[in-house]
Amino acid sequence: MVTAEVARLLTELSGEVRRQIGILVGRRGGIEFVIVGDQKGLTIPDLSRERTATLRLRGLRLVHTHLQGEPLSQEDLTDLALLRLDMIVALSVSDEGSPGLVHAAHLLPENRGKKVSEMFPPLSMGQVADIDFLKWVQSLEEEFQRGQRSVTLEGAREKAILLSVGRESRGALENSMEELKALAESSGVEVMDSIIQRPQVLSPATLLGEGKLKELLVQCMQQGVDLIIFDQNLTPGQMASISDRTELRVVDRTQLILDIFSQRAHTQDGKVQVELAQLKYLLPRLAKKTLALSRLTGGIGGRGPGETKLEIDRRRVRDRIHLLEKELRKLSKRRALRRSRRTKSGIPVVSIIGYTNAGKTTLFNLLTESRFLVEDKLFATLDPATRRLRFLKGREVVVTDTVGLIKNLPRDLLGSFRATFDELQESDLLVHLVDISNPFFEEHIDTVERILMELDLNHIPRLLVFNKEDRVRPEEARAIGQKYGAITLSALHPERLETLFDAIEKALWKESVQTAILPLDPGAVVDRSVNSYQTREREDDGRPI
Ligand code: GDP
Ligand code: MG
Repeated sequence: MVTAEVARLLTELSGEVRRQIGILVGRRGGIEFVIVGDQKGLTIPDLSRERTATLRLRGLRLVHTHLQGEPLSQEDLTDLALLRLDMIVALSVSDEGSPGLVHAAHLLPENRGKKVSEMFPPLSMGQVADIDFLKWVQSLEEEFQRGQRSVTLEGAREKAILLSVGRESRGALENSMEELKALAESSGVEVMDSIIQRPQVLSPATLLGEGKLKELLVQCMQQGVDLIIFDQNLTPGQMASISDRTELRVVDRTQLILDIFSQRAHTQDGKVQVELAQLKYLLPRLAKKTLALSRLTGGIGGRGPGETKLEIDRRRVRDRIHLLEKELRKLSKRRALRRSRRTKSGIPVVSIIGYTNAGKTTLFNLLTESRFLVEDKLFATLDPATRRLRFLKGREVVVTDTVGLIKNLPRDLLGSFRATFDELQESDLLVHLVDISNPFFEEHIDTVERILMELDLNHIPRLLVFNKEDRVRPEEARAIGQKYGAITLSALHPERLETLFDAIEKALWKESVQTAILPLDPGAVVDRSVNSYQTREREDDGRPI
């Protein structure tokens, strides 16, 4: 830990100048820093240049003097955690300047009691001499790594801890956290823990107080996590100071949503839009310290926007934004052309909208019997898919599946996803699909209605439809349906679709058509020539659908 000679030197000098003196010592005993403080404490220099992998101990221990023989203080323990020191040692300075009792503490690997650190009982210098520090610290490090490994369930999946800090009611925070969990999982992250904090006052710089930050950091080390996902959106300053304080990668709600969008974007349109949104979000955050930069641009699983992660700078980002905006304008002209051809043909457009995960894609597939992507993930769909559907009497409609709407979808994002929302503007009918089995479905309805208003879409007729009725009791489904004057169905049960077709026809042509639907034989219902996704992809040449 510390040799008798060095300890003596420190306590003698310290006693003489009446100030704390500290040294930062490497694993093999080399002294890396000497720090002179005041009577009560000392300030540790910025160690960020001495960076080690976030999940390991720093490889430095702090040995310092305490003039009053006081035990380790809260600040000492905070430094221990935030700096991931191997150990913190306080030497009491006796009256004649020689070392008295020694107080020491170290971080703890994952443990039942969720303890962050452990203090040794006070030691004499004789006992200190008996400790083989190198051996001791290596076995501590091994224990940490065992803890980190034992919780790796599925190999390559990236681990993260979710964090929510706010003054809203607990219920509201929990509800939002559930959604964040679903979002995180659909982005492919393994959620190790989710922590909700409701402090009396929010710390403006880091949201979280020092003590909580410390616990969080140690938990991250214990569980082998170096990614924190905040349920709140962080200001550029907060993001930088949290990741500076902790050296963890910090992602907020918007970035998580953007990350999911970027994984799901398949068409050129979608890809351009997502990258644009990511860069716009990133730009103000680039002004901050360069240290945090690599963490900010790293994104989840290293998936940042573009490939120029390392040399990315503000000017390049701006250039790229201009380029993408130009490309987007070009693409949107082409889209408009395609659309106008379709509108001219006079076929009504029905768009399926709704909160994410409501079952839109499932219903769309069922309607069109296509094999479009359906996954139990939020945002499984990004690009609008469009199919033609033929009703009895030769009537046709175009049905589009849309991206899910979700609460707190940042305004910037709404603007960024024009492709989806442009299509909606052309709709003659919006089928608003709601997951009846979700306990928060009423909130989801409100959210969707609000977004429709913001997007100027609320003039389009809407048909409220409850999905997943198979997951609630029949009486309950009936009652809810009655209350809202809405259809209930299950997109997994085609035999119940008739009422939906009926209602769509009624809404579009203002008349009821009895038994409007043909049996669900794909050949009979769907115009095969325009039915596959591949066909649609090739539509980029401007041919009408
Ligand atoms: P979207 O985000 O609205 O497009 O939702 P998806 O169509 O991707 O569906 C989300 C999840 O809900 C998938 O796992 C579907 O299998 C499931 N799902 C959709 N409709 C129903 C339904 O009527 N009943 C049940 N039990 N699950 C459904
Ligand atoms: Mg979908």
